[in-house]
Amino acid sequence: MSVPREGGCACGSVRYRLTSDPLFTHCCHCLNCQRQTGSAFVINLLIEADRMELLAGDPQPVDAPRDVGSPQRIYRCPTCQVAVYSEYGRPEVRFVRAGTLDDPSSVMPDVHIFTRSKLGWVRLPDSVPAFEVYYDSKALWPATSLERLDAVLAV
Ligand SMILES: [Zn+2]
Ligand SMILES: [Zn+2]
Repeated sequence: MSVPREGGCACGSVRYRLTSDPLFTHCCHCLNCQRQTGSAFVINLLIEADRMELLAGDPQPVDAPRDVGSPQRIYRCPTCQVAVYSEYGRPEVRFVRAGTLDDPSSVMPDVHIFTRSKLGWVRLPDSVPAFEVYYDSKALWPATSLERLDAVLAV
């Protein structure tokens, strides 16, 4: 990656820069993501929190109830309320919403998950792994990403 990716909310109050490539990129077709986005799926870039540099603004956490288990913490622009990233348990890893990138086409999903609730008209490419529910990150992630994850969770 030659140029760091940047992105932000709709009003421009929140701006961020990703200082490296993501660990992995999820395309999630679960019902929670469909409800949160009002769309067919969400694209999340998984990246260490310290590799998401906030250039402007202060995204505020909103805990959104989910169908099962704990709520999901979604960080939104305090002004326009666009969701910029979220956390799933561990704050060391952020799930950045790829649609907020200045160039969303600069990333492609590495995996499709929760395809059991994928909308029927969405066609997935054969070249990308897809799972009814979740997957084994140790089997799918590049070794460098697994090392990065170990490093950040060990701190
Ligand atoms: Zn905003
Ligand atoms: Zn989901």
